[in-house]
Amino acid sequence: MICLLTGLALPMAAPAQGKYALVVHGGAGTLAPDRMSAEDVAATRAVLDQALDAGEQVLKSGGKAIDAVQAAIVVLEESPYFNAGKGAVFNAKGGHELDASIMDGADQNAGAVAGVTTVRNPILAARAVMDHSVHVMLAGEGAERFADTQPRLQRVDNHWFDTPLRQEQLELFLKKQQGQAGLSGPERWQVPVIDLDDPYIGTVGAVALDMDGHIAAGTSTGGMTGKQWGRIGDSPVIGAGTWADARCGISGTGWGEFYIRFNAARDICARVGYLGEPIAKAADHVILGVIPDAGGNGGAVGLDADGNIVMPFSTSGMNRGWLKSDGDRGTAIFR
Ligand code: ASP
Repeated sequence: MICLLTGLALPMAAPAQGKYALVVHGGAGTLAPDRMSAEDVAATRAVLDQALDAGEQVLKSGGKAIDAVQAAIVVLEESPYFNAGKGAVFNAKGGHELDASIMDGADQNAGAVAGVTTVRNPILAARAVMDHSVHVMLAGEGAERFADTQPRLQRVDNHWFDTPLRQEQLELFLKKQQGQAGLSGPERWQVPVIDLDDPYIGTVGAVALDMDGHIAAGTSTGGMTGKQWGRIGDSPVIGAGTWADARCGISGTGWGEFYIRFNAARDICARVGYLGEPIAKAADHVILGVIPDAGGNGGAVGLDADGNIVMPFSTSGMNRGWLKSDGDRGTAIFR
């Protein structure tokens, strides 16, 4: 649509259509089907359902896409089943550094935090950066000091994020690393932080379309097991792990370095915007083509202004859930 007031060919938000949609993910780093118990599968899907419920409550009452995204992600952060908030993976030093971002496609405003260690819900910190600062991204110590000024952000000790499963994954990871390189010399920066056969990845995210036709997206993560401290992945990087504009929104999950290098989330939406590609084609091109061709892997969830939902992944599974105002709804983990 052309903006008549300015005469410029600016893209404008889709007209209000009175319909809504929501898609969430809990990471593309699922265990292989034979390594996940029936109870774990059921519990994982139940949390995805709760996240859908939280987001839908906002959307069906006419609330904003950005609030729905935030509500869904808080549920996923609170669950130990996902690598974000409680249950976040450990870095190489045995601590947690959390990344998150959120973007409102209505005006392309955005907020992000990287490497936070005491904020219980990093997505709320990202939202606070967006709403209560002039910045888009705050990292490390500066982000913690910003959080000190936001009384609504709950703070916890870094060990609060610990879970036995993540501890086990770190130990396994460190064992595998032995013999490849020490953790103290300069060579440690060359040690890969991922083994493509193992489920070290797994992040949470949500993308929503509200009844006013606005799209928002958000992503939150503990990063990757055994990551070097100070490493920042794609999740808090606007354009890499998260993107929302008037026509398209994406939240990614996968080997973050590749998502940063190929500006994955933005690239999908740029293809929708510039080439006029259907979002399914654009998302497949990047997630099933560009990223694996370069040596990475992962997935993404997204939707367009018509409420078309996409959920491609190149891994063995991706925790995911979706719903539309026409009643279409579901959750899935494997192919
Ligand atoms: N993309 C995240 C990162 O690289 C990891 C993930 O999605 O699981 O930090």
